[in-house]
Amino acid sequence: MLGFCLFFIVGAGHRTAQPHGTVFTYECPHCHNAVGWRHTTYRHWVTLFFVPVFPYKSEVLIECPICGAAYDVTGWDPAEMRRLADRLRRESSGDR
Ligand SMILES: [Zn+2]
Repeated sequence: MLGFCLFFIVGAGHRTAQPHGTVFTYECPHCHNAVGWRHTTYRHWVTLFFVPVFPYKSEVLIECPICGAAYDVTGWDPAEMRRLADRLRRESSGDR
């Protein structure tokens, strides 16, 4: 009997980044540097034979470019991000 062997190499963990630039400057609570926090969307992909096929997860992070501390802001409205940036900017300058 002639049979055939069919196998697939499927994986997950490939991640792509889409940077959106700096959202605000604020002292990092982890490394204590006052830096511009990066706003980045990451997509996690299912791979077939090491080739990304389709994304299964998306997350939006703001990250410290010095130490890599990151906070998940997935689902945040861009207007909400601007309000947070404005509030942090006012607080760091001493205005209320
Ligand atoms: Zn940091």
